[in-house]
Amino acid sequence: MALLELDDITVHYGRIQAITGMSLSVDQGEIVTLIGANGAGKTTTMRAVSGLLKASTGSIRFDGDDITKVKAHVRVVRGISLAPEGRGIFPNMTVLENLDMGAYTRKRDKKYAANLERVFDLFPRLAERKTQTGGTMSGGEQQMLAIGRALMGEPKLLLLDEPSMGLAPQFIRQIFKIVRQIHEQGTTILLVEQNANQALAIADRAYVLESGEITHRGTGAEILADPAVKEAYLGVA
Ligand code: ATP
Repeated sequence: MALLELDDITVHYGRIQAITGMSLSVDQGEIVTLIGANGAGKTTTMRAVSGLLKASTGSIRFDGDDITKVKAHVRVVRGISLAPEGRGIFPNMTVLENLDMGAYTRKRDKKYAANLERVFDLFPRLAERKTQTGGTMSGGEQQMLAIGRALMGEPKLLLLDEPSMGLAPQFIRQIFKIVRQIHEQGTTILLVEQNANQALAIADRAYVLESGEITHRGTGAEILADPAVKEAYLGVA
């Protein structure tokens, strides 16, 4: 069953059209990746799904409901959490305070404790650094914190916008391993990545975005093997 369904959406920044007639879906339990070059519209897509930007035409359905006109904060409560590009953590708050912000829709109850435990299991480094100020963490640690904060809302759909951006290779491997783990624990994921090879390797299905339009779609393996995609995005002719 489709958990998320974008039907022919168009997104504008003022008069600039960033997304044109995009249709895509993410089924319950899937990990789907959206790959594409700089400026293709990946972040714009994530903003449209999370409600930070409005689709000018088309519709967005989530978990059986039309959410096209639903506000961003309500989408969070419905189960859509975004770990934004460039981390977007609160730099002056501690690790624990940042995580609390992700849990703002819940009280400090048993669920809160269980979610916090899940985050600390996935990211032991965050547990060690609970009281450290977010802004003083390394880039990789801040990325972990952004993902951890999104998980505190116990999302049905986790939106990950370029989690590997700007990280050293050993951190990139670790982040992809953790993304796979989160998925194995039952969270449905839409993953945006420039690191196409690794994203496709863990994805059930993939979409390729070029200048605001989807040009290829298929299973992760099909897209990995597609000669045109290989040449354009995977660094092999
Ligand atoms: P990157 O990997 O570089 O972040 P992306 O695929 O996420 O790229 P977007 O950030 O979604 O791409 O940008 C898509 C298009 O929309 C680009 O042409 C970009 O210049 C334009 N755009 C993005 N943000 C704005 C904005 N705030 N105002 C005007 N145009 C914008």
